Amino acid sequence: MKYVNEYRDADLVRGVIQEIRHIVTRPWTIMEICGGQTHAIVRHGIDQLLPPQIELVHGPGCPVCVTPSELIDKALTIASRPDVIFCSYGDMLRVPSSGRDLFSVKAQGGDVRVVYSPLDAVKLAQQNPDKQVVFFAIGFETTAPPNVMSILQAQRLGLKNYSVLISHVRVPPAVRAILSSPQNRVQGFLLAGHVNAVMGYWEYPALAEQFKVPMVVTGFEPLDIVQGILKTVQLLEAGRVEVANAYSRTVTLEGNQAAQKTIGRVFLECDRKWRGIGEIPMSGWGLRPEFDEFNAEKRFHVEALKTEESPLCIAGQILQGLKKPHQCSAFVTSCTPENPLGATMVSSEGACAAYYRYGRVELQQQVEHA
Ligand code: SF4
Repeated sequence: MKYVNEYRDADLVRGVIQEIRHIVTRPWTIMEICGGQTHAIVRHGIDQLLPPQIELVHGPGCPVCVTPSELIDKALTIASRPDVIFCSYGDMLRVPSSGRDLFSVKAQGGDVRVVYSPLDAVKLAQQNPDKQVVFFAIGFETTAPPNVMSILQAQRLGLKNYSVLISHVRVPPAVRAILSSPQNRVQGFLLAGHVNAVMGYWEYPALAEQFKVPMVVTGFEPLDIVQGILKTVQLLEAGRVEVANAYSRTVTLEGNQAAQKTIGRVFLECDRKWRGIGEIPMSGWGLRPEFDEFNAEKRFHVEALKTEESPLCIAGQILQGLKKPHQCSAFVTSCTPENPLGATMVSSEGACAAYYRYGRVELQQQVEHA
């Protein structure tokens, strides 16, 4: 295998699915952690090609989806200030909270800009010394290195007008929270290969052992995903609890240690609230005290702001594998990408957006007529 197209070869994918059919003897519930994997699974219909004994449930690995409403409200408050240029990845602009989103702030005259890298925001801070430039630093372990680099770069340049609004989350505490829940249904995990490319997978064997659940580091192309599922089913059928790597072309056990060291220079582990799920102990990263000057929450005095989540949106249950998008009464009725009630309907990695985009709408109709 040398080129990415080989990982999209339908015959190879069918062959692996055939192998899964051959070995499976009983029902198994497997969670793919990452929203990117959810989209690939739904887009290619992988869940529908699997034998009926295998149920895939969708995990919380969508950074836009789990950023809590109150962080969005803090972003809206800061972005509405006339002295601020507010920078964000594009997905966040349509995420609703308290009846508004960043697009509506922009429409009302706020200077809200889409950037492709936090270093673009640092450049904007250099070019606009009379403005405060704030970057909305959301994400999992994958986006931590560039976000940290932007802070170090701003420090090196002596910028006093750059800060970050942080909502960084980490996968291992979320896995622990899902497995600790009395309602947990997950028997095996597909781990998110890009997170493991940065962090390695040395943190997971202890979790697998504690909860007796096998885990497989898995990539994002169709062949990667079915190979991850095959390995998980092999481990489940054999009663083996271990962490396997089905994405070895990218991931090593120890990960990118230079990146981990750089993250550790700037970030400290902290408790973090997840949208629809609640607070998960030590599941986030925040700034070390010595980088407090880059903390946008402190700079703009929005730390105390609190927001209630919408009671209509069941995204928190979907992201813990307890429900599917079509089981939400608002799905395609009162919640659509044009009029979203929750972040999972607008994020490019959101499970509701995947079900909507790739035509799982008829599932909702089946639920209504049942
Ligand atoms: S369909 Fe909309 S309201 Fe329902 S869970 Fe998804 S985002 Fe929330």
